[in-house]
Amino acid sequence: MIRSPDKSITASDEDSLVLLEALLASAPVGIAFLDGNLCVVRINEALARTVGCTVEECTGKSARELSPPALWPMIEPALRRVAERGEAIHDYEFSGRQVGRDDLRHWIASVFPVRARGERLYGVGAVVRDVTGRVRGAERERAQARRREQSYALADALVGAVTTREVIAAVVEHGAAAMHADGGVVALKSPDGQSLELLGTHGMPSDVAAEWKRYAIGAPTPLSYVARTGEPLFLESAGQWHAHFPALARLAGDVGHSANAVVPLAIGGQPIGALGLAFERERHFSDDERAFALILARQCSLALERARLLEAERTARSEADVANEVKTQFLATMSHELRTPLNAIGGYAELLEMGIHGPVTDAQRDVLARIQRSQHHLLSLINNVLNLVKLDTHHVRFDIEPVSIQTVLEFVSETTGPLLHVKRMRFETRGCTPDLVVHADVEKLRQILINLLSNAIKFTEEGGAIAIECQGNAHEVLLRVEDTGIGIAADQQDKIFEPFVQVDRRLNRPMEGTGLGLAISRELARGMGGELTVESRPGLGSTFTLSLPRAVESDTAAV
Ligand code: ADP
Repeated sequence: MIRSPDKSITASDEDSLVLLEALLASAPVGIAFLDGNLCVVRINEALARTVGCTVEECTGKSARELSPPALWPMIEPALRRVAERGEAIHDYEFSGRQVGRDDLRHWIASVFPVRARGERLYGVGAVVRDVTGRVRGAERERAQARRREQSYALADALVGAVTTREVIAAVVEHGAAAMHADGGVVALKSPDGQSLELLGTHGMPSDVAAEWKRYAIGAPTPLSYVARTGEPLFLESAGQWHAHFPALARLAGDVGHSANAVVPLAIGGQPIGALGLAFERERHFSDDERAFALILARQCSLALERARLLEAERTARSEADVANEVKTQFLATMSHELRTPLNAIGGYAELLEMGIHGPVTDAQRDVLARIQRSQHHLLSLINNVLNLVKLDTHHVRFDIEPVSIQTVLEFVSETTGPLLHVKRMRFETRGCTPDLVVHADVEKLRQILINLLSNAIKFTEEGGAIAIECQGNAHEVLLRVEDTGIGIAADQQDKIFEPFVQVDRRLNRPMEGTGLGLAISRELARGMGGELTVESRPGLGSTFTLSLPRAVESDTAAV
């Protein structure tokens, strides 16, 4: 008992004894004095409590009798060294379980010789402090830091993981490291839900992994239980293994798994499998760890779903690619087969028209001209379909080089000149200066411009005006093909770039146009890193704008 402070403390022997008793009884650390045979001469309340008996019960007993059997091998050498050699040992750390308690505790002790007047050895003194709280706190912090670090590493790894296998490998590796587990596995249900397949097994002997690669979902294992029920399962000890999975407990022991954390993988609330982490030593899973394991499972589920969608998309795409390839092949062959007889039809019609097989009447000449127009139309239709298919399947090669706009426009206006002349149209170019050079495939650029110009001529009344305006900035050159024609209704302006779309077929004279020109032109423009757009006002005219990347000065030397 502590004396009241107002009562003066004298230094009499009796008082010293009482004080010493009070000090021992109140000390928050365990204190003991052992004789040369390591039997307790004096022990304070705190240490007696740790040992699990009263001061009276402890007194006279040997340290060995009082020590939990598991701890004695750790304590004995220290005590003996002090008793035999008279040397003190400070900050001696040991851990273990007290009798009747199953949590691991940690102590730090000083064991020292007790001498009378600094000479004769009376016995061994020990001061023992329970540092379990501190050790656990430090462990918790370390574990949290490890989990944080591994979570980042996992997130990084998952960004690059695009297949199911890559996701599983990343989750097992980083998940096990984050939880300080000795092994890990991902088990996924088969599509029919009848069996479970183990993937990415890590820390499991290869023969066991091979034997358990695939098994019935109903088998009594932690993984199948979790995959079936969607409930997490934490087995902390061999005892719990025996209680829940008696048939497997032995195998778990042989494999060296004393504790397991098994968490469900689920998509849209439906369990698709389980993530299992295995530990060689029995362990308690804190709330933090349980929550972390569930987060890990959620992360894994999402990544697996993403990988599954990507894989499905890849498969669909490669199937589509194959189908497209077949289509291209078919069209290429077919157009070749069609072109040969079509050319023959054209050739024979020409021979007839030339009168080689006898005189031709005017009526016959008229029919022959129709045959020839049809033949031309069919030929250009076939060629255009083939071009579009090739563009669609990226079978077109672009020979990109610096191209002078002025040179291309000269060629284009020469080609369309006769048409312009026939329809008595005004034609002018504006701002198309020699410094305007683009990155393009010259043939394809000509093709686009001829298509735009012939459309402008086709859809503009006789006597109308057509112009090409050029405009360049640092990055691109814009080529505007303007007409004063019939224009295009706003709701049709996007559609005309789709294949086979013609705004009003009646406006196209029979055999004029196929509805493929703009679809091909836009694909060609995009293939060269440019774009093709339209602005139009019905009744007033249309402007088609082709943009192309501008060639930098150093490139233009070649032009
Ligand atoms: P085609 O000219 O062979 O019919 P295009 O793909 O080149 O095929 O054009 C598709 C449709 O877009 C044309 O049929 C026409 O209806 C419309 N169109 C194209 N250019 C113009 C234009 N300059 N003025 C008005 N309509 C146009």
